[in-house]
Amino acid sequence: MAKKGAIKKTQPRSVVTGGAGFLGSHLVDYLLGRGHHVVALDNLVTGSVENIEHLAGRPDFRFIKQDVTEFLFLDEPVDYVWHFASPASPVDYLELPIQTLKVGSLGTHKALGLAKHKGARFLLASTSEIYGDPLVHPQREDYWGNVSTIGPRGCYDESKRFAEALAMAYHRQHGIETKIVRIFNTYGPRMRLHDGRVVPAFIGQALAGQPLTVFGKGEQTRSFCYCSDLIEGIYRLMMSRGNEPVNIGNPVELTVLEFAREIIRATGSRSKIVFRPLPQDDPRQRRPDIGRARTLLGWEPQVPLAEGIVKTIEYFRGRS
Ligand code: UDP
Repeated sequence: MAKKGAIKKTQPRSVVTGGAGFLGSHLVDYLLGRGHHVVALDNLVTGSVENIEHLAGRPDFRFIKQDVTEFLFLDEPVDYVWHFASPASPVDYLELPIQTLKVGSLGTHKALGLAKHKGARFLLASTSEIYGDPLVHPQREDYWGNVSTIGPRGCYDESKRFAEALAMAYHRQHGIETKIVRIFNTYGPRMRLHDGRVVPAFIGQALAGQPLTVFGKGEQTRSFCYCSDLIEGIYRLMMSRGNEPVNIGNPVELTVLEFAREIIRATGSRSKIVFRPLPQDDPRQRRPDIGRARTLLGWEPQVPLAEGIVKTIEYFRGRS
């Protein structure tokens, strides 16, 4: 997309897989703001050029449309590999179970191979889904999880669990500096309106005056982190010492029903709430323990839900 520019000797060089996705593109913006030269890779299956089109023509940015399960060739030095490529909404990975498994396994292998070849640091975007339907609450990094290998979420959960194992194997066997972030529910501008996740679903429904579809009785809980908080935590993690996984998310927990009411209030909508069947294996509760992120990274979220939701609603107005 953009021309390859002259790279200053001291300029850090980053590769972001999934760089046209929701979080990948926010990470790209953040890194450019910190003076990185950035190459974004994306096959655009769930990512969108719209998320990065404002960067077209910048000499410090390059977009390569590529599936990261294929061999990654870059003829320039790389300091940091940020592996964000993957379908990430339950609806997406139900539709794309094989691609999801492939990007988490083969794609992670290729991204680690690139980091090894370039002597780069590597960060894996893992997920709270590795805890499955957790039997421990809130979830700490030393909890091993409760995951069904064969359920509808298995393709995502197991590919990320495999990816974590592969990152640790590259660290132990090849001495690669690897980082693992376990990302809890995150929201903000650039989510796709119809990706099926609860934030765009409820905001889209509220703005259109349609009923909000609460699954089950809405008693299941989630904790929502605004995207800028998440990216800050992830950057700090990449620059930190140590290779242990770190939860990044907002520990403020609410039920899905409470969240639906919050969206109706924040949009000023007159939408009603309707109840729909709970999807199979939908985790009943989820909240990160962020003790490790606080200690290791001096990080905690800054953006309250009410504030982040307003920004997200603004983004979706005109798109719904
Ligand atoms: N959910 C809902 N209505 C929707 C979409 C999602 O009640 O229209 C619920 C879903 O069952 C889950 C929670 O909201 O309990 C969060 O779902 P999401 O798809 O955002 O991601 P998850 O946290 O399950 O990975």
